[in-house]
Amino acid sequence: MHTEQAQRHFWLPIPNENVPGGLRHAFRGARWEGLASAEAVCGDLVAMAQPSELDWIYFPTCAECNSRLKGE
Ligand SMILES: [Zn+2]
Repeated sequence: MHTEQAQRHFWLPIPNENVPGGLRHAFRGARWEGLASAEAVCGDLVAMAQPSELDWIYFPTCAECNSRLKGE
């Protein structure tokens, strides 16, 4: 069984300009490969950057990304 291969994803904290802090979005693929921007699982096109330790701790999980991954 290799079906999980097609559904690989990773999480990355993304600073948001519209709300304080940001959200931890899920992205397709095995890991972030340094792209400046990418489309999250929830459909948001976001600017990506190397997150800090604090981003991982304080940014909440994107509810839309989470529910879409659960639905797969
Ligand atoms: Zn999201």
